Amino acid sequence: MSAQNVKLLNPGPVTLTERVRKALLEPDMCHREAEFAALSKSILSKISAVYTESTEGYVPVLLTSSGTGAVETMLSLVPRASAENGKKTLVVANGVYGDRAAAMLTAQGKSHDVVAAPWTSPMDLAAVEKALATGLYAHVFAVHHETTTGRLNDIDALGVLCKKFDVPLLLDAVSSFAGEKIRFAEWNLLACAATANKCLHGVPGIAFVLVKQEALDSRESGATSVYLDLFRYRKEQKNGFSPFTQSVHVLFALREALDELADAGGWERRHQHYAALTKQVREGLYALGIRSFLEDTGSYGSTLSSYRLPAGLTYDKLHDHLKNKGFVVYAGQGPFSGEMFRIAVMGDVDASDMTRLLAEIRAVMA
Ligand SMILES: *Cc1c(COP(=O)(O)O)cnc(C)c1O
Repeated sequence: MSAQNVKLLNPGPVTLTERVRKALLEPDMCHREAEFAALSKSILSKISAVYTESTEGYVPVLLTSSGTGAVETMLSLVPRASAENGKKTLVVANGVYGDRAAAMLTAQGKSHDVVAAPWTSPMDLAAVEKALATGLYAHVFAVHHETTTGRLNDIDALGVLCKKFDVPLLLDAVSSFAGEKIRFAEWNLLACAATANKCLHGVPGIAFVLVKQEALDSRESGATSVYLDLFRYRKEQKNGFSPFTQSVHVLFALREALDELADAGGWERRHQHYAALTKQVREGLYALGIRSFLEDTGSYGSTLSSYRLPAGLTYDKLHDHLKNKGFVVYAGQGPFSGEMFRIAVMGDVDASDMTRLLAEIRAVMA
């Protein structure tokens, strides 16, 4: 099995198309030259065009980091401890990524409370409503697609509360941007964080925050880090430049990936493609007696689904067999590591790959 033939079914980095991979061979470029500014600006406008109908008033800010870096940079919208005025951030958590955001706020010394639900449950919206009614919160943080389980959190319902109490929402959209609907205005969205290498099918190394321009103009930066300062990035990126060296070749690949997305009909077509593959995998696994991890299968998003390991099959055995046959699947995290496996369908994978995958899972169970 050559490396070229491996299909990555982990939630990023994804299997690249040849079109995107070839973009890595573009000539070298200095990030202080005009041609780099032109490249960045073209990417910024292509990112803004992914959700054309709803991104007016929002600007993307590109940075060289993984998705986690974009989430942490987005938190420079939250004031530093000295400027909090008694207001806190409310973190809504039901998986690894909500907990990670709370850890970031702790590291940044910013006051916050966490409304936690079990990882197998929806967000606890009743507790969110009660908390917001106290008037103590200046921001809400939530995770759109909680990759821990594959749950697509009900941000429509959370957005109603953010509107009702007039509290802006900071969203981790790292595994949903370009794969799921994002309602910028309806959700009272202040910013969302995303990455090149999940639903956009780019190369890992570039991430971005899409943020309300008005907030950048009217606030002081709350950054507690020199590097992860959203405001500083935006200031230079207005002209296409960047305070620090950007991953130039990864940007070439991202530009190509954005063009490829547009050529293929945009995010809604991609969403349909993911949903069809996930349905195929789920039905195929059901037929083998494998159950989905979340009881309410309607709560899954399109990009990833999680399953209970069947009796007698360890994750390592499943993983190693599939890897031998050219598929990389993903383990459960934290308390679910021995019970669960996950299949993501982002990247250059199609129905025939899923058919081969299901045949191999049948084989390893036999
Ligand atoms: C993948 C992921 C991240 C982190 O991205 P990295 O690129 O691994 O840093 C954050 N949030 C969610 C929801 C993710 O799926």
